[in-house]
Amino acid sequence: MKNIVIVGGGAGGLELATFLGHKLGKKQKANVVLIDRNQTHLWKPLLHEVATGVLDSETDAVSFRAHAYNHGFNFEQGSIVRIDRANKYVELEPVYGSEGDVIVVARRIPYDYLVLSIGSKSNDFNTKGVAENCIFLDSPEQALRFQHKMLELFLKFSENNALAEIGEDESKQTLVQEDKVNIAIVGGGATGVELSAELFNAAKHLSSYGYGKIRSDCLQVTLIEAGDRLLPALPERISNAVRMELEELGVRVKTSTMITEASTNSLLTKDGGEIKADLMVWAAGVRISTVTQQFDGLAVNRINQLCVKDTLQTTLDDSVFAIGDCAFLLQKDGTPVPPRGQAATQMATVCGQNIVALFEGKVELKPFVFRDKGSLVSLSKFTTLGNITTGKKSSLTIEGNLARLAYISLYRVHQQRLHGCFKVGLIILIGRLNRFIRPSLKLY
Ligand SMILES: Cc1cc2nc3c(=O)[nH]c(=O)nc-3n(C[C@H](O)[C@H](O)[C@H](O)COP(=O)(O)OP(=O)(O)OC[C@H]3O[C@@H](n4cnc5c(N)ncnc54)[C@H](O)[C@@H]3O)c2cc1C
Repeated sequence: MKNIVIVGGGAGGLELATFLGHKLGKKQKANVVLIDRNQTHLWKPLLHEVATGVLDSETDAVSFRAHAYNHGFNFEQGSIVRIDRANKYVELEPVYGSEGDVIVVARRIPYDYLVLSIGSKSNDFNTKGVAENCIFLDSPEQALRFQHKMLELFLKFSENNALAEIGEDESKQTLVQEDKVNIAIVGGGATGVELSAELFNAAKHLSSYGYGKIRSDCLQVTLIEAGDRLLPALPERISNAVRMELEELGVRVKTSTMITEASTNSLLTKDGGEIKADLMVWAAGVRISTVTQQFDGLAVNRINQLCVKDTLQTTLDDSVFAIGDCAFLLQKDGTPVPPRGQAATQMATVCGQNIVALFEGKVELKPFVFRDKGSLVSLSKFTTLGNITTGKKSSLTIEGNLARLAYISLYRVHQQRLHGCFKVGLIILIGRLNRFIRPSLKLY
């Protein structure tokens, strides 16, 4: 039986494994194996909600092992370190336990068809001090680290305020700078914008959970963007509308501001300025892990994306496919397919169809064409806005409830592809029940 190996169980990889598990795995036509360095999958566009505690990652995460069992594929935990294309295997590094001991030794997994879907991460452009002092929002672990630090800051802040009220001496009241919780976010793309708004929502909830008198003016969020406007991928009118909404909430938006260095409690700007902050997030740029350079000579671009043909096969090896953020494909208009959730899931569909076609002995594979359905940004409970594509060259700007519905539908479609309609219906129902049962914010 042939082996289909998929590396990376994210937005694209997990949908693909589920599809191929049903089409080929369950029918014993192929052995489908999904490899991921983690044990669970979480829809990455929700990470800003995990970071503020609005979403509990443990409730929403999908266990790879359980999902594999239910959908006809196998799961291997491990991180890919190398590919041998001549002998057709991928090499995984050992899996280490919490004490640093080796739990699973390094392994070689053979493949007939290999799909690489290892996603992307933020790009700090080697800016001094960023890796040491800023938190990235590329994984649930990083989002949880942010959430814990945020809760600590708010607790310190509310304790200081309580001390101030009972007249304690002033030296004890200097734990938080400038009597505000200062959070700086670098990167005015969707992640930075959505996180900024979500923080104000979190602050509102915290005051009802014993965190003292936290009002929105106790929170200072600074959103920094090197370009001249927020959300450069969206039309200018939407960028302007988003900026206005954020500023109304209290976000300090700094465009055309380049960060040159990060230290423990501040960011230095190219024009000599300093932005003080208790907590700093780096949510700018996109790059792929340098591991793609160990993929036996497969062509990569400047940010280590794997170059693919329109069939999603890598340019130098027809038995190796790449999808999602880690794939580089130029569209007809000369622009690359953007690293977005909708592109990853569309690629998963075409890649799945092409692999099934190869199993059926077809030689003609389907070309991938990205259908941009538009972009929406959620400003938490406050509003949602963006544009949806209505025709080949036309789009419609939407805001409010309709936009919120379209925004959520991207995630619901992903869930439906993983679990089917019935289970998604149950997930939605349980989500609604949880609103009564659970606190509106994760508080630990
Ligand atoms: C905070 C945030 C908000 C976003 N919001 C939006 C949005 O609103 N709309 C939108 O369209 N897009 C959004 N995106 C982008 C979107 O999440 C990505 O484009 C999408 O997840 C890419 O899917 P993927 O399958 O390529 O990779 P991912 O979903 O990133 O999955 C990659 C998988 O590979 C695994 N992996 C990585 N390296 C290795 C390795 N060496 N070995 C084994 N496994 C590995 C990871 O554990 C992960 O499971 C957002 C991204 C972030 C970070």
